[in-house]
Amino acid sequence: MENQIFEYIDKHRDYYLKWLTDFCRIPSVAAQNRGMQESVKYLEQLFDEAFNVYPEILATGGQPVVFSHLQGKEGTILSFYNHYDVQPEDPIELWKTPPFEPTVVGNKLVARGIADNKGNLIARMAAVHAIKKVTGELPIDIKFIFEGEEEIGSINLGTFAENYQEKIQADACIWEFGYKDGEGRIEVSLGVKGLLYVELFAKEANTDLHSANATIVNSPAWRLVKALNSLKDDQDRVLIPGFYDDITPLTDEDLEMLQRYSIEEKKLKEHLGIKQFVNDLTGEELKKKHIYEPTCNICGIHSGYTGEGSKTVLPSEAVAKIDFRLVPGQQPNKMLQLLRSHLDENGFTDIEIRTFGEEIAARTHPSEKIVGAVLETVEKYTKQSPNVVPNTPGTGPMYEICQKFGIPSVSFGVGNFTSYTHAPNENIEIEDFIDGIKMVASLIFTYGKVMAQQN
Ligand SMILES: [Zn+2]
Repeated sequence: MENQIFEYIDKHRDYYLKWLTDFCRIPSVAAQNRGMQESVKYLEQLFDEAFNVYPEILATGGQPVVFSHLQGKEGTILSFYNHYDVQPEDPIELWKTPPFEPTVVGNKLVARGIADNKGNLIARMAAVHAIKKVTGELPIDIKFIFEGEEEIGSINLGTFAENYQEKIQADACIWEFGYKDGEGRIEVSLGVKGLLYVELFAKEANTDLHSANATIVNSPAWRLVKALNSLKDDQDRVLIPGFYDDITPLTDEDLEMLQRYSIEEKKLKEHLGIKQFVNDLTGEELKKKHIYEPTCNICGIHSGYTGEGSKTVLPSEAVAKIDFRLVPGQQPNKMLQLLRSHLDENGFTDIEIRTFGEEIAARTHPSEKIVGAVLETVEKYTKQSPNVVPNTPGTGPMYEICQKFGIPSVSFGVGNFTSYTHAPNENIEIEDFIDGIKMVASLIFTYGKVMAQQN
């Protein structure tokens, strides 16, 4: 059966590629509210064409969620979480081809959103389509949950999930993203980090001043620099008291998993143009820090004059944007309180904190059936063991719609080591897209079998 489905996918590769390129032509930039309705309409038509059903368009406080529940033979439910919004295309001058005109360059297809996340969204729909066409039915129930605000922090997804708990319920979920590593192995990720995004704001005089006044007027820029300096030591440890206290301790299993996970250090350094990693770390210590430890990162600093040449000014304001990537156990709201107390205790009561985003970390246990099914599928198809990462160093709203409701979630997809997500010249390899369709089709059967054995 599987071979027939693979043949069908091969025969229809241009058809599925057209689904993808048509979708990538729509500039669905949630941050600018562009092309969003058009995207929803496109998906409605695609569901109609592929499955003879219209998806439900579920309202949220912002962009709607496109949802569909397709019935299968067995009661098992596998859901797919994806998003139809993309990042803005800026800086447009660095694109070698137009961002919303999908272009074949060598063995790649280049377009904004193709790796993050339209390639995966379409590959998953195509897999379900191929199974239905070849076998006339689905072995298990499939749910598609496509949100339109992932790239702007999934601001309404938590409330959506609370409101539609029954709809999103599933035995397991396949998460939106996935990439090949530097060695060309498929990376399978079992979780995501959490996030606390804040802005620290310092203010002194009611207007910018001639810098001659620096003799007698305090500088908010210096003030902010000193506050920032109190957050971390020279070894990159966060100095906020209690910051590390709630972290779920690592088990032997976690450390074993980390051992099997690999980072191509040399390739990665070359790719990034850096000479060494933080603290000159390498090997297990490097992996441990990257995967299992939280961060305190300055995303941007601004104060006074930063243009060309000189301007002698004493700024009246200074602002820094900071993101903390959190790990399981760390609650964003508690971390925010700890940050406030830390600033207060160090005499920075005047520094205002503005919050921009909070997400809770999520990790699926490796013993979950969906993990076994994904690993088996990828290994069988690629004839290589996948590179399993306990959680990616990045963040997503996985907890909000999966772990919070007891749904295990695993991520793998059609991106590659140089997919340039969120950056100019975003791309996927065309063969990875076709392979991705086949692996998802294969997974649906494998997971169905694993779950049937249990019952
Ligand atoms: Zn993204």
